[in-house]
Amino acid sequence: MRIPTQTDVRTAFDNGLPELAPPRRVVVIGAGVAGLATAYELARRGTEVTVLEAADRAGGRARTLREPFADGLYAEAGAMTVSPHCHYTLHYIRELGVDLAPSDLLDTTFSYYLRGRFATPDGTSLARLGLSLNPAEEGMDVAQLMDTYVQSLCRELQPDLDAANWEVTERLALYDRRSVAEVLRDRGASEAAIGLLDPFFLEMRGGDLQSASALSWLRYESSGHSMIKAGTSWSKIKGGTDRLPAAFADRLKGHIHYRSSVVRVQQDDDGARVTAAAQGGLRTFEADRVVVTVPFSAIRHIDFSDARLSRAKSAAMRQLRYASVVRVYLQMRRQFWKGFRVSISTDLPIRWIRDATPDQAGPRKIVECMMTGQRARAVAAMSEEERLRFTLDHLETFLPGANEHFETGTSVVWDRAPHIEGAYILPEPHHAELMPAVRAPEGRIHFAGEHTSFEPNGGAMTFAFESAARALLELGLAEATAQP
Ligand SMILES: Cc1cc2nc3c(=O)[nH]c(=O)nc-3n(C[C@H](O)[C@H](O)[C@H](O)COP(=O)(O)OP(=O)(O)OC[C@H]3O[C@@H](n4cnc5c(N)ncnc54)[C@H](O)[C@@H]3O)c2cc1C
Repeated sequence: MRIPTQTDVRTAFDNGLPELAPPRRVVVIGAGVAGLATAYELARRGTEVTVLEAADRAGGRARTLREPFADGLYAEAGAMTVSPHCHYTLHYIRELGVDLAPSDLLDTTFSYYLRGRFATPDGTSLARLGLSLNPAEEGMDVAQLMDTYVQSLCRELQPDLDAANWEVTERLALYDRRSVAEVLRDRGASEAAIGLLDPFFLEMRGGDLQSASALSWLRYESSGHSMIKAGTSWSKIKGGTDRLPAAFADRLKGHIHYRSSVVRVQQDDDGARVTAAAQGGLRTFEADRVVVTVPFSAIRHIDFSDARLSRAKSAAMRQLRYASVVRVYLQMRRQFWKGFRVSISTDLPIRWIRDATPDQAGPRKIVECMMTGQRARAVAAMSEEERLRFTLDHLETFLPGANEHFETGTSVVWDRAPHIEGAYILPEPHHAELMPAVRAPEGRIHFAGEHTSFEPNGGAMTFAFESAARALLELGLAEATAQP
């Protein structure tokens, strides 16, 4: 079977997956957006498709928290923005009739709280903090620092970096062997400047610039997905991200088995078998093909010993790392801070604070703190009560009144989220070498999900959808190859 390229997938998808001649019976493991899109497309084409989902709801990391909040307030636990470059997400949003609203993530009132003082990202304001910037950096605003250290390098590496079916050329490979922090330092960035840029990289690296592959980061930063290039063009799903998986699930009602945790996948020359643990005990499903969308962070709970997996796939399953993210949500009786929409990056352990409900009807508010990397792992070790208290106490130091106005709260520790166990892939040096094995099909078993994306930094719904389109194409191609 010819392995489809990223361009093949895009072309086929935009033409309605014309090559697809799907097999008769397919089992999809996981009802996150990748599994849902795979099943949706197969069901529409008459395939007998069964989705096995360990949780009692669809959506996986496309999850909106509606409890324990009052007045119908909600906050996003996982995915929250859609950029104009999220081609596949936008397709399904349109197709399923889900509404978009402007994103409130990239706020013009973004500020830093460092060394006990507030500053805006502009050069004069930053200079007042007395950071140990090097002489060339003095007076630069964050956009200039970004251009000097990041965008200039992206320009140097064009056109290799932006190629459609990108290959890791020799000069790109050099960057896949180094971490983001190493490359920034080589370019002359001071530790203080790296610290200022860090909030803009949160999304992809789990805050761990020391261990993320520079190549993965550069590919992302040179793309339209880059946070720094986003301007005000980002959107969010109106009413909560969970509306998108809910729209799929609505169309797949008879196909999804909830609370069905897959424990074993087998294949031989005649077919594949998937065994799930459900309330009534173990149940085995026969299939011509299986699509596994389980994140590799949680895949060790499935026994693949009779699945004829290659050594490269087994190694990739063990080696792929995931970012640690903790999000803490504090419901406040009212907006007790004055004047500005809270969106603050701080050097305190709670790291990033924002008003998660700027466009939801008041007077109550949810203040969210997002921690990544080592900070996330440290708060993950606390009890829920300790975590809320820890967050509130730090918040109080620069938003006085936090304790007094706090009513209730909750948190999501992605490393401990059942059946997911990580936020999104954390591409480490040499990640590009691992990627082909992560997504390669193994006989009758295909792999989808954000981690199998063509993009090294695939932590977005659109890449999960793209992976579903790729798996569908593989199914069509595989079937075509198998026919006499
Ligand atoms: C903090 C955070 C912020 C994010 N922000 C954004 C954003 O702003 N925009 C954006 O587009 N994306 C964002 N993402 C990424 C996006 O949420 C994911 O890329 C996408 O939802 C992944 O979908 P998936 O189907 O690949 O995996 P998942 O959503 O993880 O789905 C996998 C499913 O498999 C199920 N499963 C696992 N094991 C088993 C088993 N043994 N048996 C049966 N079922 C099983 C799980 O329960 C889960 O439902 C964010 C993610 C996080 C965590």
